[in-house]
Parts: sequence; C-alpha cells; structure tokens
Amino acid sequence: MGYRVTLIPGDGIGPEVTRAAQVVAEATGVSIDWEVAEAGEAAIRSDGTPLPASVLDSVRKNRVALKGPITTPIGGGFRSVNVALRQQLDLFASVRPARALAGEGTRYPETDLVVVREATEGLYSGIEHWVDRDHAAAETVNVITRKASDRICRFAFDYARREHRRHVTGVHKANIMKTTGALFQTAFREVAAQYPDLVADERLIDNMCMQLVKKPSEYDVLVTTNLMGDILSDLCAGLAGGLGIAPGALFGERLAVFEPVHGSAPKYAGQDRADPVAEILCLELLLRHLGEAAAADRVFRAVWETVAEKKVVTYDLALPGYTDRPVPASSCSAMAQEIARKVPLVDPSTPLPRPSARPGVAADPALEG
Ligand code: NAD
Repeated sequence: MGYRVTLIPGDGIGPEVTRAAQVVAEATGVSIDWEVAEAGEAAIRSDGTPLPASVLDSVRKNRVALKGPITTPIGGGFRSVNVALRQQLDLFASVRPARALAGEGTRYPETDLVVVREATEGLYSGIEHWVDRDHAAAETVNVITRKASDRICRFAFDYARREHRRHVTGVHKANIMKTTGALFQTAFREVAAQYPDLVADERLIDNMCMQLVKKPSEYDVLVTTNLMGDILSDLCAGLAGGLGIAPGALFGERLAVFEPVHGSAPKYAGQDRADPVAEILCLELLLRHLGEAAAADRVFRAVWETVAEKKVVTYDLALPGYTDRPVPASSCSAMAQEIARKVPLVDPSTPLPRPSARPGVAADPALEG
C-alpha cells in the first residue's frame, strides 16, 4: 500500500500546478494514494464554506498534504483560508527555500537561502478593528509570544543543523517595535546561544532587504516573524528566479503541508501557462519528508536539468530579456511532462554544476545598520 496524502488543489492556477506535481509523482514510482480535499472557491460552491472541517480532518488523519494556492479576497470577504489552515492545524513553521536553478531567470545564480517564518501569530493574528465610526483610522494587533518565538527560533537552528547549513540570521524590527520586536530578539539570542556550532547574527528588516539584494550569498537561513517572513520569502524567491520556482513547506509538531510561495495567479488560471516548478519542488520536499530521498533527488535533478536545458520551460523562464537566451514558452503541462520524462533517466549521484562557490559567511560590520 502507498502513502496516503491529502491533496488540496486550491484556486486559480492551483489545480493545474498540483496536477503537474501528480504527473511527476507518478514518474517516481513512489506509490501515493491522493485524498482530494477541496478548499477555497470550489469548497464554497460545494460546501458553502471555503474551509470545510473535512479538509482539516483529512490533513490531521494523513499527517501530510500537498496544497495549491488559495485565493483570499482583498480588503473584505472571508478570512484567509491559508491563515486559518495554519492556525487551526498549528502549522507554526513555514520553511521556504530559495534556490537558483541552473542560473536561469536570475541575476544571482548562487542564491541558496531558506526563510523560516513563524506562521501562526504576528500581524496575521486576525485581531483588527476600526478605531472610529468614520473608518478613518484602524488597528491590527501584532501578537508575538515568547512561546511561539522560542519555538520558531529553535526550529530554525535545528533545521540549519539537519540541513548542514552554518549560518542563521534573526530578522526583526526591535529598534522600533520595542515590545514585540524585542521579545522576538530576546528569544532569538537565547536560542542561538544553545547552538555554538552555528554562526548566528541579527539584522533589522530594512537592512536585511538591502543586503539581500546586494549580496544574497552572504546569507543562509533567515528566521523571522509572520509578515516579515512573508515579504522576505517573496524577495528571496525573486532573487532565486521568481515565484514560479519557489517551493515551501509548513510544519507543525506532527503535521506537514507542502505549498508553493506563490499565490493563485488568477490572471493565468485555466490557461495552462503557469510555471509548475514551485509545486513540483513542493513534491520534492514532501518525498524527502516521507523518507523517499532517492525519489526526491530524482525530482530535483529532473527539474534542474529541464530548466538548464531550456527547451521545454514556461513563460517566466523563457521571457526575452530575462535571460540571455530567450526561447518559445511551453505550457505548464508540457513542462511537467518533460520533467516526468526525465525523472527515471537522470543520475542524481553526479554533482550539480554550481554557478559559483558559496563565499564565507563572516558578517561585514560596515554593512550593519
Ligand atoms: P501571486 O503569487 O498569485 O502572483 C504574483 C505574480 O507572480 C503574478 O504576476 C503571477 O502571475 C506570477 N506567478 C505566480 N505564480 C506563478 C507561477 N507558478 N508561474 C508563473 N507566474 C506566477 O500573488 P498575488 O497576485 O498577490 O495573489 C493572488 C491571490 O493568491 C490572492 O488572492 C492571494 O491572497 C493569494 N495567495 C495565496 C497564497 C497561498 O495560497 N499560500 C500565497 C500568496 C497569495
């Protein structure tokens, strides 16, 4: 019998990119029994709610899920399904690796960063209100607790050790947010002291953004609060080659949900145009989580070689002016088929060509601000 995994196709491009990941999963030979659980617009149509209890039950039962993006109405409408899922399942750690693939689609071919984002509190608390009757002033509560800050910092350092990374940077705004920011900063410092084998340093969020754009190879694992992590992970995805290639994973104490950094990209929905790589790399992370490292290595290598070859790639990796070698754009499904075709053929044991070596991680005091 295979692994039973919850599949949440999601909205917009979600059904297309999750289907692409399923095609690649099939090519690995790992037997996965997908239990489809609809959330978002499809669930509103069928169940009258965007997050039916059956979705939460399915993830709790199977303990692992592959998820597509889900649309959140802007400025009104129902609360974010994504945030509700994280809070209700206590998926506290959002791990978002940003790896450049074969140097394509990026000015920073050496990018290899991981953003670890606290995913249950902060400015996503959902506690907000109008201050006056005219709706001319409003407040959103930034909830930061010592418990969640300790937990996410510990997760980041454990993750760094496990993944043979050497450097963890705590990112905050403790100079301005003297309670919430300082609470996170204190937690980071106390946890860091327990990992003397790893380099630990801190950056204020504004300086962090500037430094990432100037020299991303100086950084390794970044740990931060919810909204800062959301913004930083899109920035890091951009450094690595774009939202189309950026996977992510959400971890709780016993549960894991794999979802890309990107959203539902409504303008491409139903057009078979979206890049499937982010969702396929979510599958890679899922296979690793299941202990299927050999299959995961094959998936990563097949993605890498497809991107490097640049014969069958979606528009975002083929855009003229975005790379030095523009090519005709392929469809989402064609790229997925090409990756699936390569999965049994690739040799993951040969080292990947690295566009450039990772330089040292010593912090440059002149750049701290
Ligand atoms: P988005 O990530 O959907 O799109 C941002 C840009 O990236 C767009 O230009 C889009 O076309 C492009 N893009 C995204 N994914 C791509 C892919 N796979 N291939 C090629 N291009 C891709 O962000 P948005 O427009 O800000 O949000 C759209 C909706 O998605 C909103 O409702 C938002 O709330 C939701 N969202 C959901 C999640 C999630 O489910 N975890 C995450 C982010 C945004």
